Amino acid sequence: MPGATPIGTRAPVVNHGPRTGAKVALTFDADMTDAMLASLRAGRVKSYANLRILDLLEREQVPATFFLTGKWVQRYPDVTRRIAGNPRFELANHTYGHAAFTRDCYDLPSQPVSELRADVAKTFEVIEPYGGRQTRYFRFPGLCHDAAALDALAPLGVTVVDGDVVSGDPFAKAWKPLVRAVLDHVRPGSVVIMHVTEANAAMTDEALPHILAGLRERGLTPAPLSEVLVGA
Ligand SMILES: [Zn+2]
Repeated sequence: MPGATPIGTRAPVVNHGPRTGAKVALTFDADMTDAMLASLRAGRVKSYANLRILDLLEREQVPATFFLTGKWVQRYPDVTRRIAGNPRFELANHTYGHAAFTRDCYDLPSQPVSELRADVAKTFEVIEPYGGRQTRYFRFPGLCHDAAALDALAPLGVTVVDGDVVSGDPFAKAWKPLVRAVLDHVRPGSVVIMHVTEANAAMTDEALPHILAGLRERGLTPAPLSEVLVGA
């Protein structure tokens, strides 16, 4: 399975694939915390699932990789089925409830590192029944990790994927800065970090057509993460 590593060794961290060729990976994180669930229940926000992103990727037949939290999958089973049903989409793991397993990771709620292994294992159990292109890729919330966190993942045989192009889409107020941030830094083998969380990343779907056009102009082609990381 893509991303699988020998059980019992510290999880490797990758930021990008080989700088040869023309492939780049578009990755979309699906965060979900208890606070976000409370906002949905109270009607303060409408949705944390940006269906316009899926519409566009499907229409243009663009490959992508989705880092899913367990709580997002449980809140959006139909959207998860839609992702899993697309042969161009890969599914990856982004923890169960988007907690940080290090101190001082932005303003994320933190959880003891002793709970990391069980949290990530539980998330795989939530994602796996959906089938499709399953992987052993894992991304830490906020990309926050240290040696203890990587060691805690050793029993799971995963690859930790950070990324080398940060779109900066969380809480963005305009789409143009996202397009700039991506196109100014993207190179062959890049892993672009975006979010599919709508209310918390409302400009991503507006930026995406311009990002796709800019990639085409640069001769870069979106591909599933597993294809971009080959040889990394
Ligand atoms: Zn996240």
